[in-house]
Amino acid sequence: MDRTERALELAREVGFDLAGVAPLAPPPAAARFERWLDEGRHGSMAYLERHRERTVDPALLLPEGQSILCVGLAHSRPDFALPDGARVARYAAGRDYHNVLGKRLEKLARRLAAEGFDGPWRKVVDAGPVLERSHAARAGLGFESRAANLLHPDFGPWFFLGELLIAEPLVPTESPPAGSCGTCRACLDACPTDALFAPGRVHAPDCISYQTIENRGAVPRSLREHLGDWAFGCDVCSEVCPFGKDTPDLSERFGTHPALADDGLVSWLDAGEGFSERFRGSPLQRPRREGLARNAALVLGNRPTEEGRRALLKALSFDPSPLVREASSWSLARAHGADHGVRAALELARGRETDDGVRRAMDLDLAE
Ligand code: SF4
Ligand code: SF4
Repeated sequence: MDRTERALELAREVGFDLAGVAPLAPPPAAARFERWLDEGRHGSMAYLERHRERTVDPALLLPEGQSILCVGLAHSRPDFALPDGARVARYAAGRDYHNVLGKRLEKLARRLAAEGFDGPWRKVVDAGPVLERSHAARAGLGFESRAANLLHPDFGPWFFLGELLIAEPLVPTESPPAGSCGTCRACLDACPTDALFAPGRVHAPDCISYQTIENRGAVPRSLREHLGDWAFGCDVCSEVCPFGKDTPDLSERFGTHPALADDGLVSWLDAGEGFSERFRGSPLQRPRREGLARNAALVLGNRPTEEGRRALLKALSFDPSPLVREASSWSLARAHGADHGVRAALELARGRETDDGVRRAMDLDLAE
């Protein structure tokens, strides 16, 4: 068995479903990525601009590097919702995949070293500065789709990617495309916000995933009702995709995090000081307590309940974050504005509010 085949075999032995090799060089999507940045479609993700150079050229991440081992780990599971029906992107329902993939990549690096693959290495999972979909497509792990994700014939869009940059000169496993979207455009038609403005192109500030995970500020008012039930991420473009309709149920792999198995939006809104402990080991820590409470408040405005009304009134008066008070005001006005008690509470809160931005938003809420 040659060195490349052995490296791929080891990747499978440590538990990855997919493995391939790409050259450590700018991938085909490099120019597209730079245009996307130049057009400002990355929103407030300034780190993408900061890391532009090494994202485009992965050789800058590991000067001694020769190859990228691209790996995939499937996470397909049936539809996922919180006990109260609010939605969370399926990939985020269980243990944090960054830890799982990171540990497996480290294990793979140790196994490779034990078999004489010498030299430095570097692992990358998700947030790292690598155009992972493009490298993975080049290595034969799937094809880049009109939904701007990577599709695999067996797993559809439901798999994580990781990369191990290594100093060994392996032979690239470039292969013919693993499929194509053909004439389908279901994802473009289904996107609730038209964030998929052209095939394979996403305007991040319009995307629900970006707004509920990456955006640290207020969700634009024009997008709020389009969040619908989505309190963290959005799977709409993946769920409508014909690829991945018959994927295996692998929910056991990542499990369901206790904070998502037992709790609903009201408890998210009320998480307070216990947030870090409650969401430890979950991808939902990324938007922090404030962002997750903001999302919960907005979705409670889209799916009104009596319990939600009480939680929003409490947050309106007592939440320390202007972001959460502002979102609570919007939701109370939208979902319960006809209730005289709610209107009185909004007027009272407006009179007491110390943040100028929240006061201006409350004026709009009261007027609307
Ligand atoms: S994740 Fe949701 S909002 Fe974003 S592009 Fe896909 S369907 Fe549109
Ligand atoms: S929904 Fe259709 S167009 Fe969109 S990614 Fe899937 S196959 Fe491609």
